[in-house]
Amino acid sequence: PPRPGAPPNQGPQIAGVRHIVAVASGKGGVGKSTTACNLALALQAQGLKVGLLDADIYGPSVPKLFGLSGKPTVVDNKAMEPMVGYGLKVMSIGFLIEPETAMIWRGPMVQSAITQMLRDVLWGELDVLFVDMPPGTGDAQLTMAQATPLSGAVIVSTPQDLALIDARRGVTMFKKVAVPILGVIENMATFVCPNCGHASHIFGHGGARIEAQRLGVPFLGEVPLDMTIRETSDSGRPVVATDPDGPHAKVYREIAAQLW
Ligand code: ADP
Repeated sequence: PPRPGAPPNQGPQIAGVRHIVAVASGKGGVGKSTTACNLALALQAQGLKVGLLDADIYGPSVPKLFGLSGKPTVVDNKAMEPMVGYGLKVMSIGFLIEPETAMIWRGPMVQSAITQMLRDVLWGELDVLFVDMPPGTGDAQLTMAQATPLSGAVIVSTPQDLALIDARRGVTMFKKVAVPILGVIENMATFVCPNCGHASHIFGHGGARIEAQRLGVPFLGEVPLDMTIRETSDSGRPVVATDPDGPHAKVYREIAAQLW
């Protein structure tokens, strides 16, 4: 896959941050945030300095994923210290406002909130900052992709046809703003029954790989539909951090290794 290193698109660079990589999906609920969080942790385990910005303004899930609450410290009245979860520097609109407040925001307000979280945060030195994008491929996402100096984008999709159509729109959107697609990840692929070990493909299987081939972008791997992944991410103990030698962490590590 094209490693992040290609020239970033528009928008001024952020001092100290080498690469910004968007994690995007065509629609909500496909596991974009779970994937972003575990990938970020997997890259950190490889020795990289990693940050995670939750730009999913209408459904910020990073505070919950990391079990973090409270407000970031403001320094000199102008910049915020990121919060730290399992060693990762994280920032989310969820730390700053009640989520219901953002629901009524209009486009320009969303854009300015994201710009602030990107630029008025003391990220320090980072090899990569992951941005958990708002789901979808509408104007808001397009504007954001344009305003952020992105080195690349990773697209998360479930295997169903409908999700794949949306993922295709995501690929098209990033191509439009000349952001390299680092690859597609199929989430919620195989389900292995914990009782009998039988593998079933609840949402189908292999669709994302075929779609990636069709679109001429790399396929980065499959993440199974797994109770442990759901339980750990919903209880603020992401699996890559809490069971780094287990089978789930291995899946994310193998995907991360292709990115860097
Ligand atoms: P999105 O960011 O796309 O809206 P989330 O990451 O919030 O999606 O995931 C939606 C739900 O699916 C969460 O409850 C999460 O724990 C669960 N989930 C995500 N990926 C998996 C997976 N591979 N296996 C099981 N549950 C998952």
